[in-house]
Amino acid sequence: MSITPLMPVYPRCGVRPVRGEHCHLIGEDGTRYLDFASGIAVNLLGHSHEGLIGAIQKQAATLMHVSNLYGSPQGEELAQWLVDKTFGDTVFFTNSGAEAVECAIKTARAFHQNAGDAGDKGRFEIITFHNAFHGRTMATISASNQEKMHHGFSPLLAGFKYAPFDDLEAAKALIGPQTAGILVEPIQGEGGIRPASQEFMAGLRALCDEHGLMLILDEVQCGVARTGKLYAYEHYGITPDILATAKGIGGGFPLGACIATEHAARGMTFGTHGSTYGGNPLAMAAGMAVMQAVANDDFLGEVADKGERLRARLEQFIGNYPELFELVRGKGLMLGIKMKMESRPFYVHLRDNHQLLTVAAGDNTIRIIPPLVIGDAEMDEFFDKLSAGAASFKVPEAA
Ligand SMILES: *Cc1c(COP(=O)(O)O)cnc(C)c1O
Repeated sequence: MSITPLMPVYPRCGVRPVRGEHCHLIGEDGTRYLDFASGIAVNLLGHSHEGLIGAIQKQAATLMHVSNLYGSPQGEELAQWLVDKTFGDTVFFTNSGAEAVECAIKTARAFHQNAGDAGDKGRFEIITFHNAFHGRTMATISASNQEKMHHGFSPLLAGFKYAPFDDLEAAKALIGPQTAGILVEPIQGEGGIRPASQEFMAGLRALCDEHGLMLILDEVQCGVARTGKLYAYEHYGITPDILATAKGIGGGFPLGACIATEHAARGMTFGTHGSTYGGNPLAMAAGMAVMQAVANDDFLGEVADKGERLRARLEQFIGNYPELFELVRGKGLMLGIKMKMESRPFYVHLRDNHQLLTVAAGDNTIRIIPPLVIGDAEMDEFFDKLSAGAASFKVPEAA
């Protein structure tokens, strides 16, 4: 037998973490890494955060799981918190980002198809954008135009049309009598930390209003305080109809949510959707601990402030290596360095030779997505490692 016990869908690297301490990971062999990847924008509070550990331990010892057949005081508390702090009126809890996006897609379709005479039953298409990432389920790979995720999985789910990102006219041209909604990441994550422009986001909102479409935001990566606002839509002065959130919301515990307005959720009636684990008491305890830590003006202000300082230093830094780096982009502590070449080799070099963890992304970008609790010491260590990494980097021969 040559297949590995872990299904070999990830090309796993030699970093083998066994312990986390605040903003560092410690490998099996004792190597210490500075973690500016945060489990891909998940560990907002870093590793071994006492409040989060305490909340999970306490809930685990009290009640971990019951089914959604019963009333949920724990779910009501977190849902109310999200309703109070966002555009939304109602929340469905999931265990992952892809499930949150699935629920968002179902909510948009049901808005048109499950509202009696009020709906337009012929509407099912969702417009999405080039290089988007929405997850790995059949619906969410179908929602992306990235062929590398489609290969081997035909047939895809019907009903998605793709426009270039940040191109309002192209999105407008795809709207037809079957269009149900528009799904977009306000800041593309996997696509290379590419923030949508103000005109684009405001324009999508206006198009949805004009045509009776659902504006669905995928904030799985950019949401939950990452950009210095609780959700990134707040930067744009617009609100969505439906929003998918996950990654950071559990601080490392698997949790996601689909948040919707009352109007948008009109098709999501009894029996239309469900999840066995979704919103179980243990997940709710983790979510509440994260929300209590991050959903306040002091914390959000600090993230914005740290993001500005990190960005300013990055911009100064890349000026020293004009042959390597093109620009810095992003918001808050969701930053990307666009390189003048493929970014993966530099990401590997930082990881293997300088014990600095970042994440490679599309469009030649290195993602800088540290825990939101970094301080000056971690920022200084980051620049020490990054500078050493840039100085010692040998650009691979073009293949
Ligand atoms: C990670 C991600 C997802 C998928 O989340 P999973 O928890 O891996 O299912 C969806 N959308 C965006 C924008 C993401 O970054």
